[in-house]
Amino acid sequence: MSLLIKNTVLIFNLGTIYLRLILHRLLHINIKTLDLFTALQKHEVTPEMIDYVISTHGHSDHIGNNNLFLKAKHIVGFSISYKEQYFIHPFDTGDEYIINNSVKVIPTPGHTLSDVTVLVDTIDGDTVAVAGDLFEKFEDIANPNEWLEAGSEDPEQQRKNRFKVAALVHWIVPGHGPRFQVTDKIRESLKNQMLNLNQ
Ligand SMILES: [Zn+2]
Repeated sequence: MSLLIKNTVLIFNLGTIYLRLILHRLLHINIKTLDLFTALQKHEVTPEMIDYVISTHGHSDHIGNNNLFLKAKHIVGFSISYKEQYFIHPFDTGDEYIINNSVKVIPTPGHTLSDVTVLVDTIDGDTVAVAGDLFEKFEDIANPNEWLEAGSEDPEQQRKNRFKVAALVHWIVPGHGPRFQVTDKIRESLKNQMLNLNQ
């Protein structure tokens, strides 16, 4: 089974260590600078081999090329479909969507009311969050205006979910910047912002 999490992309095959290593390597690449096909080819993956495509939310800059993956189950925010079939999953009551032992999708509304974040356990024992625009970039932690001005349909929920995700993971892949490591200082700052102590 292969999985593609779009925008800040990871690809991997759950069946082999080799492809799990690809996951790890791709986390070091700003995939937006690469052509998607080239990136796939480089790892001998074709669009037909992808079983899941996950787009963290439905904004136009996060859903490009979804139509290349006709054999995949698509998760776009809270919406899930496979070919002509549509599935209801209770993201709105907080339920996570389990893909397998190392990958799950959790609801993290705020930027849009139906944003999701993908949590991935890597072979190093780290947990990585592919967070879409819940985090625009690393700098938006020190300057919350960066994410507020990028658009937030529910800033209060977004503050809560920013802290919640940071508390769960070692690394965050934001929607528009390189991945960054989550420190206790970052968690503290996000907690203060959630409690409105700091802004
Ligand atoms: Zn967006």
